[in-house]
Parts: sequence; structure tokens; C-alpha cells
Amino acid sequence: MSADPTSAKLICLETAPVQQFVASIFRAAGWNAADSKVATDCLIGSDRAGHASHGIGLIPMYVDTIKSGCLKPEWTAQTIKDDGPFVVINGRRSLGQVGARDATLKGIATARQHGIALVNLIDSHHVGRIGHYGEMVAREGFVGMFWVNVHGRKPTVVPFGAREPRFSTNPHCVAIPRRGADPFLLDFATAEMAVNKARVAFAKGEKVRHGTLLDHQGRPTDDPGVLWANPRGSIATFGLHKGSGLAIVCELMSAVLAGGPLVADQDEAGAILNNMTALVIDPRRMAVGDEPIEAATDRMVEWVKSAAAADGVDAVLTPGEPEQINRARLGSRIEIDPATWSDICKAAAKMGVSDVPRAI
Ligand code: NAD
Repeated sequence: MSADPTSAKLICLETAPVQQFVASIFRAAGWNAADSKVATDCLIGSDRAGHASHGIGLIPMYVDTIKSGCLKPEWTAQTIKDDGPFVVINGRRSLGQVGARDATLKGIATARQHGIALVNLIDSHHVGRIGHYGEMVAREGFVGMFWVNVHGRKPTVVPFGAREPRFSTNPHCVAIPRRGADPFLLDFATAEMAVNKARVAFAKGEKVRHGTLLDHQGRPTDDPGVLWANPRGSIATFGLHKGSGLAIVCELMSAVLAGGPLVADQDEAGAILNNMTALVIDPRRMAVGDEPIEAATDRMVEWVKSAAAADGVDAVLTPGEPEQINRARLGSRIEIDPATWSDICKAAAKMGVSDVPRAI
């Protein structure tokens, strides 16, 4: 297990007490033990996968949303269409990790029955790391594709060729099962950087790659602070016109398909909201050859990894591997930057939770 070069700056905690601590914040807000655990596991799973942007560092924002009355435990998702492979669930702005978990389980059950499922969770509170749901699908032997938009707040991401934001970090995810290994998992924001990764960089006092972010006049910068400045800056899409196009596809697939809210429809909901469309495919219903998809995926992954590494690169990785490597490196622990941990503890105190786990 190699040491993370940034870990010297980070606080290290055992996962189990942090799980209890975070779950007790949701409990204190009024969610039951099961739903509190679902939300907590998704957040901590993101930290453990190496995506602190969608980990427990979101707790202060969630607590502010709860305190302002824009996220309530009594709000629940409701299925509004269940028509063979087509399912639409109205999240009704309820706790996103619970709605997205239920939508994903419904997708798996529906694909088991029909061979394919198209499930659209609309107008949910923030669902967190999309790869969490991709992993659920692939671990059951199904292929999952996800398109997600972000609405409920002003757009943050600038379309290709523009200097004003028109949509958000709209993530896309593809998960494919492997044999005896964690799934192939491509899961990314269609922006150069997730907003919450800029938040983590800002909290750590770090710069970002020049041009990832734009100041309020659309000029490229390396300063994550532009996203918290007034007037506010914005984020570039990844991959020039191609990433910009995929960001719009995420909007269309998650919002337009079933009639969920577009980013253009509401920008002052007081909460980060998502629509999430999941396409779940049973590969056994599709295959005409004898080789199971897991074996063929392994072969393709090995083929890609057999390419000679570029100068300065230790090993060619495939999507899903960085997350596996991070989990293995952490063992039973998680790491968090001190500023974010301090904000989480303050947010917990606002909810009357004071039993703060000790750093190792
Ligand atoms: P990222 O830029 O770190 O990219 C992650 C993807 O790239 C993963 O699939 C990973 O396995 C792969 N990857 C990373 N390094 C690799 C390498 N060297 N070789 C091969 N593959 C590699 O991710 P991101 O864009 O910062 O997104 C982070 C998270 O934020 C995602 O989990 C996403 O779902 C989440 N997100 C959620 C929302 C929301 O509103 N719910 C919005 C935006 C992003």
C-alpha cells in the first residue's frame, strides 16, 4: 500500500465511528435509521472511492438546506409511471441517496423481468456520486448507463464557445460487470471539474489547472475561489465541443425524456436537485456468443492495460481502478482535509450532534 502524497495534510479517521457520527446527523434531522444509513453509506463510499467532492464534505451544505426547510424527512419519492420497462419516479425533492437507491433497485428488478429498464428519477434532492448506483447495477451482473442533470440553482458550466453558464456539471456514468473484480466504472462530471472538487481545492488552499475555471468575465483562471466570488465565475466543459454536447445530452436524457425540470426551469430552489435516468440492461438477454460479458470485459481491460505506459506514468489504468486503488489504500479509514472536517463538526453541532470521532 503506497502512501498518498497529500495525506500528510489530511485528517485520518476510522470509517465506523464516522459512519455513526454522520448517520446521527440525519437521525437528528428526523430521518429513520435505515434511510440515514443509506445516505451516510453513499457519502462515505464517495470519500473512500477518492471523490471527497461527493463525500461527507457535503454535510454542511445539506444541513443548511435542512435548516432552511428545503429538504425535509417527511418528503418521499413517489412512482408515477410503472409501465413494463419504463419507470418514472418523482423524487419530490426528498433525500436523493434514498430515492436514487430505490430507483436503481427498481431498475435492476425491472431488467431482471424485461431484460431492460429505463428508470427516470425526477426532481430529487442531490443524489451524490453516480458511480455508487453504477456499482449496484454491475454487482448484480447488469450493465448500467446513467445521465444526470443538476437543477435548483443557477447554472455553473459554460457551453463550448460561450462565456456565460447555461447548465451544471451534469454527470454521466457507465458501469459494466467484470469477473471477480470491481466493475468497469466510468463516472464523471461533464464539466472540467465537479463544483465540489473546486470546493475541496478551495478549502485546501490549492490552485486548479489553468482554464478549468473561468472568472466572471469568462477569462480562464486557476483560482477555485472564483466560484465563491461575487460576481461568480464558472466552469468549462471537458473535451471542448464533445464534452459540451454530452452535458446537453445528460440534460435531455434526464429531464426532457420524462418531463422533469430543466436547469433552465428553476434556479432558486434553495437546494441542489438532480434528475437521474438509469438504463439497466441484462447482458444475458443481448448476447449471441458464448462468452459472458464479465469475461469479455476482463479481456478488453487487460488488452487496454497491456499498452506501454507513457513517460512518467506508472501503470495504465482503466475506469473504476482509481477508485479500487483508493479503497485498498485506505483500508478501514477515511481521510478528510481539516477545513472541511471543521465545517462538518460545526454543521453537526447545529443539529445537536456533538459526539465527534477522534482523528487517528
Ligand atoms: P474524475 O474526473 O475523477 O473522473 C472519474 C472517472 O475517471 C472514474 O470513472 C475513474 O475511474 C476514471 N479515471 C480517473 N483517473 C483515471 C486514469 N488515470 N485512468 C483511467 N481512468 C481514470 O471525476 P469527476 O468528474 O470529478 O466526478 C467526480 C464525481 O462527482 C463522480 O462520482 C460523479 O458522479 C459526481 N458528480 C455528481 C454530481 C451530482 O449532481 N450528483 C454532479 C457532478 C459530479
